[in-house]
Amino acid sequence: MTNEKMIVIDPGHGMGSDGRYKRPIMDCSGPKAKVVRGAHNDRSMDDLGYLCYREDHGTLKIANEAYNTLGTLGYHVQFTRFDYEDVAQNYPNAKIPKWKIVRHLTELYGADAFVALHTNAGGGSGPRVFCRQPKAPGLLDSSPLARCIMQSIVSAFDFKTGKVKRKNYAVLNSKIPSALVECCFHDNIDDMQNLLGSDGFEKMGMAVAHGIDRWFRRAS
Ligand SMILES: [Zn+2]
Repeated sequence: MTNEKMIVIDPGHGMGSDGRYKRPIMDCSGPKAKVVRGAHNDRSMDDLGYLCYREDHGTLKIANEAYNTLGTLGYHVQFTRFDYEDVAQNYPNAKIPKWKIVRHLTELYGADAFVALHTNAGGGSGPRVFCRQPKAPGLLDSSPLARCIMQSIVSAFDFKTGKVKRKNYAVLNSKIPSALVECCFHDNIDDMQNLLGSDGFEKMGMAVAHGIDRWFRRAS
């Protein structure tokens, strides 16, 4: 089955140009999620233990699951990164801002939609899906895509809240429908028990994929 639609997924973060990961490792084994390490250069996924979480690995796992589901639904999918490195590392000039690389990739692949995957921090629960404010009335509005993804995640996990928000992240500065998904809060222990529980990453990736699919079906 194929429907000729191309989606570019950006699994958020990765290793910086100094070889270190900027995202903290969270210990989710107690009653509260707490930071156990800040910037680090630990490449191993396996020595962290079941209840530890780091965003750069989490986003890659969710992206892989979304890839599988979108593939079975007939979509073409490209990633901005497949491994631990940040996407910018594949480019010889490290000064190129990430949003320019993303725009280059979406144009190169002829993408119909762009979705960045992250997990959130700072107090809160459930998904937040961000899209840009359209520059003028009648111009491209990505909020229907964002809303479909948000609703899909909320219903898959039974989250109490989920929000679509406007924020002009540079990476969303695109001519195609674009959304930045904060799948849940990695400093909220309830959210993390959902994500780190059995099939959590699979469920999240599937929810993101089904939200994208729902939007394409409505838009077509
Ligand atoms: Zn992030």
